[in-house]
Amino acid sequence: MKYTTIVGMEIHVELKTTSKMFCGCKNDPFHAPKPNMYTCPVCLGMPGGLPVPNKKAIEWTIMLAQALHCQIAAISKFDRKNYFYPDLAKGYQISQYDQPIGEHGQITIRTVDTPGTVQEKTIRIRRVHLEEDTGKLQHATIDGKKVSLVDFNRSGVPLVEIVTEADIRSGEEAKAFLKELHKIVRYLGISDANMEQGSMRLEPNISVKQATTDSEDGLIDEKDFPPYKVEVKNINSFNYVKKAIEYETKRHIELLEQGELPQQETRGWNEHKNETFSQRRKENANDYRYFPDPDIPPLRFSSTMLEKIRNSIDELPQEKSQRFVATYRISVPQAEFLTEDLAMTEYIEDVWKQAGSRLTPTVIANWIINKKIAAQSVSPDELIQAIITATTVEEISDETIQQAIGKVLSEQPKAVSDYKSGKTGVMMFLLGMTIKELKGKGDKSKIQEQLASSLRV
Ligand SMILES: [Zn+2]
Repeated sequence: MKYTTIVGMEIHVELKTTSKMFCGCKNDPFHAPKPNMYTCPVCLGMPGGLPVPNKKAIEWTIMLAQALHCQIAAISKFDRKNYFYPDLAKGYQISQYDQPIGEHGQITIRTVDTPGTVQEKTIRIRRVHLEEDTGKLQHATIDGKKVSLVDFNRSGVPLVEIVTEADIRSGEEAKAFLKELHKIVRYLGISDANMEQGSMRLEPNISVKQATTDSEDGLIDEKDFPPYKVEVKNINSFNYVKKAIEYETKRHIELLEQGELPQQETRGWNEHKNETFSQRRKENANDYRYFPDPDIPPLRFSSTMLEKIRNSIDELPQEKSQRFVATYRISVPQAEFLTEDLAMTEYIEDVWKQAGSRLTPTVIANWIINKKIAAQSVSPDELIQAIITATTVEEISDETIQQAIGKVLSEQPKAVSDYKSGKTGVMMFLLGMTIKELKGKGDKSKIQEQLASSLRV
């Protein structure tokens, strides 16, 4: 039996605004010297605390939604998502329900295989909305007693949620998608998107169905989705997402083969055992009793405002990668690698421009990639000089090569006679000896050519 894995992603990204989403408290939970330092009546949910939305956070969410090719709502609003948890002081989270800031976007993922063929696939973005983060629970043992502590430094930090359509078909695709989204967020400069610190958190929704023929565009109609899905919560690495999807796929197939339907539930990821574990039954949206937040008026975005934000978006990773290939004639894998980090793209463009005709962009790109040069670790000029010096030293004259070949051939009469009697395989041995004699200098194909012509004599 053939099966298809169906995955949609939910990604939470903390915005690095100066202050929190609905109050003036400092937004820097990860570096706070003590728990509960950056708090006030608003983010502690005290009576009388009134939320005032953070303009920068709204602009940045619009910017991200635009970069993901979303339609931006003319009118958007905040809603209350009601549930109880000790890290949620108010008893509800301010989020967005039916009028998110952005909808109907997409990301194109590009994978390059070994021969250098570029494969493209589009993952649709269902929505991009803005909400507030919760506090953080810590479980500890104090005086021999097991206790749970709560830290509200993170309570009310602006949090963007990005939800995809269920267009992802494998762990590998999920990883490629997440890497691209991560790059975009970092290029926009709106979040550290640091997974270890929890400023980017990943949740795949996974189900498996018996394979039928997909429509031509590879999309599966929502009505043909399996009647269940499993959400794996708060994963903090692209690799773990990939592994969790692969683990769940296998688990679901085993159940389906036994005629059972996997449970609709929320699961956690155990990174030590490389497996998921059951946490709780999954809730439905209507369990949260969403309703518009009466304290916050609806948001209206003028076309002038949207245009201004759109114009502030600089070149995004894929545009940059394509321009590097077109302008500097480097290969697609080189461009993909070099555009992973914005600081690197700025650095290498400086080096390329300053090198002028002294070095080709490909030589520079190879050097930076192979020697693992970090952006700005040496000045462009020093780097150019270093590459020129290194490549000049390695050039050696034909006479030197000839001398080395002569020496090797006279020292290896058996190999020479073997070669002449038809055992051409010894050529590689003689080439190795010659390269050793030349201490690794010189162009290898040129040495091989001269060696071959010497042997023909
Ligand atoms: Zn506050």
